Amino acid sequence: MIFQPEKLQIKDQRMKPFMDPAEIWGFINNAKPSKERVRDIIAKSLDKQRLTLRETATLIEASDPGLVEEIKQGAKILKEKVYGQRIVLFAPLYIGNLCINTCAYCGFKSTNKAIQRITLNKEQLVSQVKALEDAGQKRLILVYGEHPKYDANFIAETVGIVYSVRSGPGEIRRVNINAAPMDIDGFRIVKDAKIGTYQIFQETYHEETYAKVHLGGIKKNFEWRLTALDRAQEAGIDDVGIGALFGLYDWRFDLLSLVRHTNHLEAVYNIGPHTISFPRIQYASHLNLDQSHLVSDADFTRLVAILRLAVPYTGLILTARESATIRNEILQFGVSQIDGGTNIEMGGYAKKEQTEAQDIDLEQFQINDNRSLNEIMDELIMQGYIPSFCTSCYRQGRTGEHFMEFSVPGFIKRFCQPNALLTLAEYLENYAPESTREKGYQLIQKKLDEMEQDSSKDSLLEKLEQVKAGKGDLYF
Ligand code: SAM
Ligand code: SF4
Repeated sequence: MIFQPEKLQIKDQRMKPFMDPAEIWGFINNAKPSKERVRDIIAKSLDKQRLTLRETATLIEASDPGLVEEIKQGAKILKEKVYGQRIVLFAPLYIGNLCINTCAYCGFKSTNKAIQRITLNKEQLVSQVKALEDAGQKRLILVYGEHPKYDANFIAETVGIVYSVRSGPGEIRRVNINAAPMDIDGFRIVKDAKIGTYQIFQETYHEETYAKVHLGGIKKNFEWRLTALDRAQEAGIDDVGIGALFGLYDWRFDLLSLVRHTNHLEAVYNIGPHTISFPRIQYASHLNLDQSHLVSDADFTRLVAILRLAVPYTGLILTARESATIRNEILQFGVSQIDGGTNIEMGGYAKKEQTEAQDIDLEQFQINDNRSLNEIMDELIMQGYIPSFCTSCYRQGRTGEHFMEFSVPGFIKRFCQPNALLTLAEYLENYAPESTREKGYQLIQKKLDEMEQDSSKDSLLEKLEQVKAGKGDLYF
């Protein structure tokens, strides 16, 4: 995994850098956000067409409060029209925080001597996974620092261990990873370990800023990171997640660059990113950062609404970096996945005493939503969302599910909603306290009542009975 330029294995033009900052700024500076134009663009997205860079830039430059509200309303309508009420839940699991890089914003930076460095051994990893399974988790993202110890073989081994752990009825059915860029051979190794999504954030697409905040280590190399997903594609990994760390540079530039990156993957590999993440900088141990680009709540909620409209068929991930209040607002814009019961302390899930306060010297950054998985499930249910642990598409070989949800008529009705209800019922049976169980089954009944009486409903009812009788992992 260590950077070896000779191993870039550039075969053709595909891995050439696709970012042109002048092009991005050109779109932003030349945008003309008249009321009519903004409304036309929102209408285009609601008509299920993805937006061009120029159109996205127009939404970005529409700062009139009335228009911002219309953009947010547009994102809400798109969500209701296309995605319905499902929210997929996952949890992050930190495997090791050794790191050779010096990223100004991150508590794991090599120069931070205050942080305790830990790599979970097999026994610790197993007990973390058991604790997560005992809470009802089914989907994890494993997170690694960048270190020679965390090479592709190590990552593959840890993924394999996670898949093998069973605690009572619990099992992890999808293991995504967030790890440093690899060479093509490395990506082949992690693909063979059956990872779900390979996720990597460019942090900022602005090369000069990138150089200012990446002060040491392999990560200093902007291009090696920017081309990571091209190498992943070369290795056969087509399920990838991109992201930008908002607060490093002008949010407008990084937002449009995420869309540019999406276009690149779609144009060259015929498949865009499965998910886009938009972490916002949080307080971290020994944070050492120019704070002039920190993003306000108002701009943050607005940028997520714009992203929803710009890439209407891409999954959006919102993490516990954000407070419950911000999460509740942004959920309405069509976020598809959130983490729940998050604990980013190394070894934190298996600790007997769960403390409310975070020890910032044990963690990468501050999180702002400390609710347990069940508290989040309970609140989602109360708000009318259907919390889902579905992993069906991925295990049935149906790739590009967000695109299918979006474009295949009846797909959500046939697969997504029934699978969400089945995984919710499984959670209610095995992990929920009585009060959540009651609310959860009321929600399931409400959704059943809304369904037409046909053979799909009959088979869902049959499967729900099987879940109640103790069967798990049922899906369409
Ligand atoms: N070491 C891997 C890498 O750099 O790709 C994994 C990265 S890290 C464990 C996951 C992500 O957390 C980073 O890509 C970054 O975007 C984000 N992050 C780092 N410091 C942060 C902070 N202070 N606040 C919010 N997010 C942060
Ligand atoms: Fe998502 Fe597929 Fe499950 Fe639908 S069935 S919720 S698309 S994973």
